Amino acid sequence: MKKSNMKFAVILTVVAVALLAIITVISSNQTLEESEIVREEVDLTGQPILGQDNAPVTVVEFGDFKCPSCKAWGENVYPQLVEDYILSGDVKFSYVNVLFHGEESVIGAMAAESVYKQDPSVYWDFHKALFDAQPTENHDGLWITTEKILEVSKGIAYINQEQLKQDVEQELTAEQVNIDKDLFTKHNVSQTPTININGITMEDPFDYEAIKEVIDRELGADKNE
Ligand code: CA
Repeated sequence: MKKSNMKFAVILTVVAVALLAIITVISSNQTLEESEIVREEVDLTGQPILGQDNAPVTVVEFGDFKCPSCKAWGENVYPQLVEDYILSGDVKFSYVNVLFHGEESVIGAMAAESVYKQDPSVYWDFHKALFDAQPTENHDGLWITTEKILEVSKGIAYINQEQLKQDVEQELTAEQVNIDKDLFTKHNVSQTPTININGITMEDPFDYEAIKEVIDRELGADKNE
């Protein structure tokens, strides 16, 4: 090989390697292909919805009133979600009851379903009030009782306390609670809270940056449609 040819071959190789490196960087920065995303959309028929019904992105929390992490999620992550996406109409939010803490989870869920059935517009007030009532210390100790439910609901308008008491004590909202049970079973929920965005389950419910990334990607996909 002539010296000039050799030089040409070296340059070609360098260029090829550089191109390959650039392509690798570009492709690793690309967003996930739709086919790579695992989607299991949650059927929200009869579930409480916060935000606009026609919001393009749906965030579902599988939660439990007895669970301290759910209280923490509600206090630390949820307000940012409301501020950044729900108020703007980009996201609607829903909550499905999970029953991982025995009888107290069931009482909490029965009560929440009763309030929702009585008046959906006060559901979220009750939801927040019940999580607020969760003790910060010794949350494992008994605290979700019919008495506590009635105490929590006292300050909220439009809740018929007698109806609420009956629904909880006679398990009159068992049908709605069972719908939630079927949902968390179907979606293989193994920890609370579990956050599902347009069918995509978040690995870490407390990683708000990751939540934002998925929501923004979903909003982008919606705009490109
Ligand atoms: Ca429900």
